[in-house]
Amino acid sequence: MSARLNLVILGKQGAGKGTQCKRLSEHYAIPHVSTGDILRAAVKSGSDLGREVASIMDAGALVSDELVIRLVDERFKQPDAQRGALLDGFPRTLAQAEALEALLGDDGIKLCINLEVATSLVTERLSSRRVCQECGAIYKDTDIEAISGTCSNCGGDVIQRKDDQPEAIEKRLALYERDTAPLLDFYATRGLLVTIDGDQSPDDVTRAIELAVHERGLA
Ligand code: ADP
Ligand code: ZN
Repeated sequence: MSARLNLVILGKQGAGKGTQCKRLSEHYAIPHVSTGDILRAAVKSGSDLGREVASIMDAGALVSDELVIRLVDERFKQPDAQRGALLDGFPRTLAQAEALEALLGDDGIKLCINLEVATSLVTERLSSRRVCQECGAIYKDTDIEAISGTCSNCGGDVIQRKDDQPEAIEKRLALYERDTAPLLDFYATRGLLVTIDGDQSPDDVTRAIELAVHERGLA
């Protein structure tokens, strides 16, 4: 079996992980696996799982490691993930990173891209962020799609996520520092960490990531 291109994209909320993953997913023809998207889809569908996690997510808290690990395990078994995946929003605790390592075994994470952006900037980005509930397209509050409430991509409703409101933003960023920032050391120790300045144009960020992947002979 050829090696899988498993990439972890790390960074604060609002660092641009989702935007970059959408682009990289097309470029490398591997799926964008966002635990946030998977969980939001469950909430929207009204499944048992969705009902269980809805209030946790709205408050900006983390759902249990056990639950997200199970979701990721299931996702990795899908046919489209056999050549690799872009992991966005997972792992975000050391326990999740360790579980992921155990799950993937020898053909594990090939690189961890850390999108570095100042807290003041991500706070600003998150407060002005609006998203399409159907396709996940991301807009700014000043975009016509946000003002009209209609996605130009799919016609879906464009809304502000509850967790993009001020109190939840603060909570999420604090959790990032406490639970997720330690993963930078986890991947650095394994020689897998590349840090990229996330305060550049989206195109420049994409180029920098593709270069890092290329330099490592990964694709
Ligand atoms: P963000 O990173 O911008 O907060 P995400 O879309 O990645 O947003 O996640 C939204 C919410 O889903 C999180 O605040 C959390 O409640 C839940 N969630 C997503 N991924 C995880 C994870 N790996 N572990 C625990 N909770 C998660
Ligand atoms: Zn849409």
